[in-house]
Amino acid sequence: MNSLTGLGGCREVGRSAFLLDFGEKFLLDFGVKLNPLGIEYPLDIRENIKAAIISHAHLDHSGFLPYFYKHSECLSFMTQPTLELADILWADSIKIAEFEGMAPKYTKAEIERTHKYNFVVPYKKKINVSDEVSLEFFDAGHILGSSLTKLTSGEKSFLYTGDFKLDEMQLHSGCDMSMGKVDYIMIESTYGDREHPNRKEVERKLCESVQDTVDRGGWAIIPAFAVGRSQEIVDILTKYNITADIYLDGMGKKVADLYLKHANLIKDSKGLKSGLRQVKWIRGPGDRKKALRKPSVIVTTSGMMKGGPVIGYVQKVMKDPNSKIHLSGYQAEATPGRMLQEEGKLPYGIEEAIVKVNCQYEKYDLSAHPGQSEMIRALKKWSPKKIFLVHGDDKVLPLFQKRISDELGIKSEILSLGSKIEFE
Ligand SMILES: [Zn+2]
Ligand SMILES: [Zn+2]
Repeated sequence: MNSLTGLGGCREVGRSAFLLDFGEKFLLDFGVKLNPLGIEYPLDIRENIKAAIISHAHLDHSGFLPYFYKHSECLSFMTQPTLELADILWADSIKIAEFEGMAPKYTKAEIERTHKYNFVVPYKKKINVSDEVSLEFFDAGHILGSSLTKLTSGEKSFLYTGDFKLDEMQLHSGCDMSMGKVDYIMIESTYGDREHPNRKEVERKLCESVQDTVDRGGWAIIPAFAVGRSQEIVDILTKYNITADIYLDGMGKKVADLYLKHANLIKDSKGLKSGLRQVKWIRGPGDRKKALRKPSVIVTTSGMMKGGPVIGYVQKVMKDPNSKIHLSGYQAEATPGRMLQEEGKLPYGIEEAIVKVNCQYEKYDLSAHPGQSEMIRALKKWSPKKIFLVHGDDKVLPLFQKRISDELGIKSEILSLGSKIEFE
């Protein structure tokens, strides 16, 4: 009997970690959940694992892998860009923990140990991970290196979507559907209860707002996640021919170097290269002052305004009615970004007093996850016997489950933390 056990990312978004018994035991992702009040980790794993498989670099999928290698000696599989991006994020996690006066859960030496067991697999190259089971990655269209994982054992196939995007975005063409039909699917359900607005429309609105802001003498600040979103926004803004200086600051720069290195995996690699050449890369405090001398556009981490260079910029512009903060992604509860989005307030000054902002602000939905109908379209093509729902909030999952049942008539189950679902 095959089975799936939830170790994290069950009825929640974050710390994705699943144990799949498919003749052999596989760990699918091993991430952390970054909460403003602390980090949550997946359940401990004491099983004899054949291999760990990481779908993509985002910390909610890869963030705890170096900890896993404190005690494990199995191989891990991921794409080359996933490994390189995760490396940046793992090192940064240690730095953040030290900065916040907490003991990091793993050390540089353990990151090195993680490398020792890593086996890099390109897209669409089928490899045998045991005598019985083969593994194949397909481009998931979510961020650089993101993959859908297909495991095949005899006649049976299992697909883990990780985070994916079916529709095309600025940097990615949409996920590779060439694997055809599969028997079992474990699917992310982040936006299982809603549709995204038309993406091109959102991109146009963002660019118009950015141009208007600079034209009236303000600064357009765009807090953006380091991996994927920062590069995507640079690409959007430069293609729209914004007539103002555009600056790129924060960890998004280091990540941008990797996007350039693996430009062959990007939809329009020439466009991204020229976009990243057009923008001004902030290299230090001097450049930051320069960016604030005359109205400009600043794309910077962190995306939820909790730490990163964005704080300095926001302190400068939050009292200026001509300036505007353009939120570009999901804002988790209890983050400054969520506070701005819902109450129009932000921490101000060294004392961090919560005050009403005078600048303008707006949220733009540039999600790299599929909306409800997008997922239904993908599921129709995969046409599985059974679906397992993960990576979604408790309120979202039953609504997605109902849509699947109404429209596809396929049985789906919601995986819970610590519980095991058996399947044929
Ligand atoms: Zn992701
Ligand atoms: Zn995720």
